[in-house]
Amino acid sequence: MSLHGDSILAVGTVAFDTIRTPFGSRERVVGGAGTYVGWASSRLVKQVGLVSVIGDDFPAEELKQMESAGMNLDGVELRKGEKSFFWSGTYHMDLNTRDTLVTDLNVLADFKPVVPASMRSAPWVMLGNIDPKLQLSVLDQMEERPKLIVLDTMNYWMDSALGDLLAVIARVDVVTINDEEARQLSGQRSLVRAARYILDLGPKYLVIKKGEHGALLFQKSDGDGLEFFSAPALPLEEVVDPTGAGDTFAGGFLGHIARCGAVDFDTLKQAVVVGSALASFTCEAFGTERIRTVSDTELMDRVETFRQLVDFAPIAVPVV
Ligand code: AMP
Repeated sequence: MSLHGDSILAVGTVAFDTIRTPFGSRERVVGGAGTYVGWASSRLVKQVGLVSVIGDDFPAEELKQMESAGMNLDGVELRKGEKSFFWSGTYHMDLNTRDTLVTDLNVLADFKPVVPASMRSAPWVMLGNIDPKLQLSVLDQMEERPKLIVLDTMNYWMDSALGDLLAVIARVDVVTINDEEARQLSGQRSLVRAARYILDLGPKYLVIKKGEHGALLFQKSDGDGLEFFSAPALPLEEVVDPTGAGDTFAGGFLGHIARCGAVDFDTLKQAVVVGSALASFTCEAFGTERIRTVSDTELMDRVETFRQLVDFAPIAVPVV
């Protein structure tokens, strides 16, 4: 079936993760940026085409569940006798910062993504966290300019493939990145200065994710101006595992835009809230455990909670 209408094409890792938090750990759970993007965006649109690579250690049952959720896996190459991408990280006490312990590229090391012909005219493209060379290759295979291209990345690629990363950033519409990575990429401590720097690299919009402190959306306005929007993060009673929150955010963000079919600042503001709401579910359990079971009602209730978090009556008297 070919992708059209609200369909999303996403590239990203499909992987195993070993995660340690101050409150528990899990060995080799299913993860990967593409996986989280897929689970989040398929909550919102009918079809999500994934482009990735896995080894034959990846569970067939997992692939079946991804397909049942609306993910088209024709673009996921299965390599016999090879191992899937593996990542391991350990979180600090604040759960906002983590150290990467292991990144084993395995099948990713010499992967050449092939976008299936049926997906080459997808209108909405998510370049999830993966080698920027592969993100560029996916873009090169598109038959027409997608309506919106969103890119997510991380410090690993800034350290190891900055040239390719800058080349792909110049070709996308939206960059989503976390606060520390925005500082690393720009060399600026102030997030507003960092935003200016990154928008000067080419994208029209930028989202800076700040973990438990929410997210900022920026766009350039006339002259030297910057327009921005700030969304809170839901103060969760218990954060179990933030792994994949950024990818879930990105999938939810683009999913909302694709569903609305509109690219304007108001829709992008809503998209930041939908992405944040979905990401808050991911944090409630290890791996993809929670995001895969979110119901429509749960999502709408959470979006409403977000709205109420920042809603207050107009202040009619001087505050001092
Ligand atoms: P997040 O917590 O949103 O930054 O995403 C964590 C997910 O990204 C994990 O499931 C990992 O498998 C995946 N991941 C970690 N490092 C990389 C990398 N260098 N490239 C692509 N995906 C990665």
